[in-house]
Amino acid sequence: MTIIRALFCRCRDGDGDGDHRCRNSLPCLLDPAQRSTMYLKVALVMLHLIFIGVLFLFYGNQTTIHPWYVGMYLLLFVATIAQYFFTAGSSPGYVLDTMRTINETNALARTSLVSKQPATSKNGNIVITVDHREAGRNLLGSNELSWTKLVMDLYPPGAPCRAWTCPYCNVLQPPRAKHCHDCDKCVLQFDHHCVWLGTCIGQGNHCRFWWYICEETTLCLWTCILYITYLQANILKSWWVDVIMIVLLAILLILLIFLLLLLFFHSYLIMTNQTTFELVRRRRIAYLRGIPGRVYPFSKGICKNLYNFCFSRSTLYGMERLPTAQELEEKSRPYTCLNILSCRCC
Ligand SMILES: [Zn+2]
Ligand SMILES: [Zn+2]
Repeated sequence: MTIIRALFCRCRDGDGDGDHRCRNSLPCLLDPAQRSTMYLKVALVMLHLIFIGVLFLFYGNQTTIHPWYVGMYLLLFVATIAQYFFTAGSSPGYVLDTMRTINETNALARTSLVSKQPATSKNGNIVITVDHREAGRNLLGSNELSWTKLVMDLYPPGAPCRAWTCPYCNVLQPPRAKHCHDCDKCVLQFDHHCVWLGTCIGQGNHCRFWWYICEETTLCLWTCILYITYLQANILKSWWVDVIMIVLLAILLILLIFLLLLLFFHSYLIMTNQTTFELVRRRRIAYLRGIPGRVYPFSKGICKNLYNFCFSRSTLYGMERLPTAQELEEKSRPYTCLNILSCRCC
């Protein structure tokens, strides 16, 4: 055990009590959560290789396929795997990192006596630029009051501060943030914790996640077409090859249906500026309770929602304030032709 620890882990806090939590950026085989995530990643890559390997094995003697066609397909395969690891390694936007950045910016602004705002405010929402190189430095607690003021401005006046404090991180959560028990951190605009990726999906990586599903769906669809094309041309030539191809095609079709549903679901969420967590737990979330189901409180219209989603960089986190009663009333108004022309979707 000591040898394994020395080989795979450089943590200093491993005391062999079975509750090992690694702090290295590289996967640690002693941490059960990281181990299972790594196994899942290996399984996912293997699954891709099996489906594509079988295809190339049986397509090997086919001369009708153009090299550029194969090249495009392989390029998509590599891009999908790269996007998977890119998304898995990205930060979903942790509340503590954002708070540290704000505190640090405030501290630097005070010492240099330069009037430098830690965050810009537009329409009551707050936009924060997060520099991950700086976020590691711990200035936590040096200026918690500024964070408290910043976040409480996003809630209606008079809201109790304690009600929005995470009991695990002991940090004041902005609206739409949630504590993830798998990551043990609060995540901005929490969507869900993805087991396959081994990370949370939040404000920082939701866009990358959507692109990953999109690429995976395209790859799955293209692979299905190649399987069907092969079967059309070679069926009844060899029964055992037919059985293998038909079984794999059936699995691919099931995966394709699942991926398409996931893609449409997340596209709908993006267009209405919702998260999976908000949609599923709508009645249990305090700030959404009492809002009619057809009203999307954070939506700014399809065009603006899509723009914000596509063009928000991972280093730029936006904390949205809760809508006022008047804004909610406006959003619940029935549609008119003018609303449709002006892209008022919800
Ligand atoms: Zn938390
Ligand atoms: Zn998580």
